[in-house]
Amino acid sequence: MRILPNMMNLNSLKDSKLLDLSSHFVGGNHVEFPSDKEFKVIEPRSGKVLTTWHFATKDQVDTTVKTAKTAQEHWANSTWMERSEILKKTADLLKTHCNDIAYWECISNGKPISEARADVLSCVDTFNFYSGVAHDLLGRHIPLDSARYAYTRRLPVGVVAAIGAWNYPIQTCTWKTAPALACGNSVIYKPSPLSPVTALILAEVLKCAGLPNGVFNVIQGDAETSQHLILHNDVAKVSFTGSIPTGKKIMKSCAERNIKPITLELGGKSSLIILNDADVDSAVSCAMMANFYSQGQVCSNASKVLVHRSLLEELTTKLVNRTKLMKVGDPLKEETKVGAHISADHRNNVEGYINSAIAEGATKLCGGDRITVEGLENGFYLSPCILTNITPKMKVYREEIFGAVLLLIPFDTEEEAITIANDTDMGLAAGLVTKDLARSYRVSEKLNAGNVYVNTFNDVSPLVPFGGIGQSGFGRENGIAVLESYTHQKSVFVNTGDCPNPF
Ligand code: NAD
Repeated sequence: MRILPNMMNLNSLKDSKLLDLSSHFVGGNHVEFPSDKEFKVIEPRSGKVLTTWHFATKDQVDTTVKTAKTAQEHWANSTWMERSEILKKTADLLKTHCNDIAYWECISNGKPISEARADVLSCVDTFNFYSGVAHDLLGRHIPLDSARYAYTRRLPVGVVAAIGAWNYPIQTCTWKTAPALACGNSVIYKPSPLSPVTALILAEVLKCAGLPNGVFNVIQGDAETSQHLILHNDVAKVSFTGSIPTGKKIMKSCAERNIKPITLELGGKSSLIILNDADVDSAVSCAMMANFYSQGQVCSNASKVLVHRSLLEELTTKLVNRTKLMKVGDPLKEETKVGAHISADHRNNVEGYINSAIAEGATKLCGGDRITVEGLENGFYLSPCILTNITPKMKVYREEIFGAVLLLIPFDTEEEAITIANDTDMGLAAGLVTKDLARSYRVSEKLNAGNVYVNTFNDVSPLVPFGGIGQSGFGRENGIAVLESYTHQKSVFVNTGDCPNPF
């Protein structure tokens, strides 16, 4: 293992030679393990190779788990005040360096800089929130009779393996790391090789905030690396964000050698229902928000936009007009609304969905065109697309597209809309637009989804649990709910009298 000088003074983050450093962050250091498995870090906005890093091998995973296990034993004994202070300081540092961290998020992921900044600020909120949850980790005292009582303790699970997707790199890492650390666990985070940069920055920020070495570690890896990590006997818990097929494999591995608790945040196929009393302009905003953020690469996106037939014509015209005005281009520019897709392959997949829909009879109303951005000619750009004449047999109706492709589907009755929205075995999100409060309550109750949005979409807060049902996975991130995932409860029975002897 080669230890490299620590990355940076956070003050010169943007100009740092971050990419010249190393693939991994283990035991408080940037390290390069010798490995023959290289991967190229690609900048989506230009298609350029930013650097070449390495996937960790099994031996390197073992070294990292050993480091994390030793560190966790000390971290678990730290006081709630010590943990709170470090998490609060992390939030402060993320806020101070928000612009520079957002810059790297934009470079590494291709999302517009304004969105990247919002993501970093959401991480600030998350660390702030979990710096104050100590009282939610308290146990209970349970009186049983005059001589007996029980008490419960909430204890850290140990070493957490956290595996992330590429679409919200620093946010996904934070959603897992902040609560896991608050509970006294250590974390080994494995980012997606498609956006592996900002987890290393978060590691540096946590170190600057005073987190002891080895409590938070980052290793780069592919499926093989992840599997070594998941199967390791000293990894006590797995938290995964990614696709359904990978989630299934991970679930299987978690039962192979041990019975390992797991959180699965998987894909979705969500709907937004625009009811006949909706304000059309507001509904258009909602539909765009539900489809075009992060180039549509959002797990909870409502690709099926169900519109009451009475509003269809007006809404379609306004939606298409506003969509055509969206500025596709260099994500580093403030005016850009649609940046680059994560990779050429993914851009091709999204195009494939559009082409398959058209081949099956759909009509394209706008978008879906490759955009060439001057100076960034090899970037992965595609304009946001709206399709109509969609039928339930089409691939786009059933499968997650994970791109900016909005499917306009008319309906006549509330019941019909609910049936279409629930016509999926995934259950991550659903939404509705209405001015009628009673109606919003009634419809929300009937939607089979972990998250429902009324007159908004993809809203998020660290106070509110987030997660899916059905094939979208189980377990929750955010809120107090996530603390269940990173602790186990111990119940202690105490008899203050003589020990009962039944024999
Ligand atoms: P993916 O499943 O291809 O990869 C996710 C992670 O798993 C990566 O780090 C990858 O290296 C790793 N991995 C791949 N194969 C593996 C294997 N066999 N064993 C263990 N690990 C493996 O997903 P992706 O393309 O990175 O992300 C897109 C998917 O993530 C979409 O389906 C999206 O909906 C979903 N997602 C869900 C949420 C949520 O909160 N529900 C959030 C973001 C993304």
